[in-house]
Amino acid sequence: MNLIDSEGFIICPDCNERTQTLANGFKVSIPCECVRKRRELMLEAEWQWEHEVTVNRLRKIAYSNPEYENYTFANDDLKNEEASKTCKCYAENFLIMRDSGIGIVFAGNVGVGKTYFSYAICNYLLDRKYSVLATSFSKLIREIESSGFSEKRNQIYNMVESVDLLIIDDLGVERRTEYISGIVYDIVNLRCDASKPLILTTNLDPKDLKKTNDLAYHRIFDRIKKKSIPVLMKGESRRKDIAAQTYNEFKDLLCLPDLGGN
Ligand SMILES: [Zn+2]
Repeated sequence: MNLIDSEGFIICPDCNERTQTLANGFKVSIPCECVRKRRELMLEAEWQWEHEVTVNRLRKIAYSNPEYENYTFANDDLKNEEASKTCKCYAENFLIMRDSGIGIVFAGNVGVGKTYFSYAICNYLLDRKYSVLATSFSKLIREIESSGFSEKRNQIYNMVESVDLLIIDDLGVERRTEYISGIVYDIVNLRCDASKPLILTTNLDPKDLKKTNDLAYHRIFDRIKKKSIPVLMKGESRRKDIAAQTYNEFKDLLCLPDLGGN
């Protein structure tokens, strides 16, 4: 039942606010606090839903392996605090990095977390609705080759050129032919000409490259070094830890001995 206040206006029984006011001498309905709150919640839910739809769409474009969703700063084991900090700061200041075209080159051995940090940055940016493409040269080259000279090929190059951040994992493991090096150089060039950031991970040591006279890769590093921050990743390979975890998980079932201190 509606309650009426001393001046004859209907008041809400829940928040005790008037649900009516006078306008040009007539009583008209107005929202009380409860109604305003309900509307706010609805708007927020709608915003949240739209946000999730956008982020999921961007994530589908960014990478196809769902495992990478777990590579986040929140899940970081902090075994490499310095790199964690640099990467987090990079992600938090991405707008400046993007507008200055500054990327990162992660160098270091296999399993030290180069891919992890690249995808942690990727996921951080996706959650903030930036467009990212995270791939490898091997994959990108396969896609370019299979697309022939179709519209698909243009789409790939357009994306390489236009996404807010391009991440290319594992430079140097692709086939090393003149043709492949040419494509790799084209992609790097396209990105640099567009003044857009590129994150590369590589097991190659830029110093070794100079020694081996691998001209193509020498040129590639030369092109990106002005616009990227080198992050040298050191430390033990995480893959050992993961292998030990898997071992420990199944050792009882398989009647295996303890691994000991390692
Ligand atoms: Zn109310």
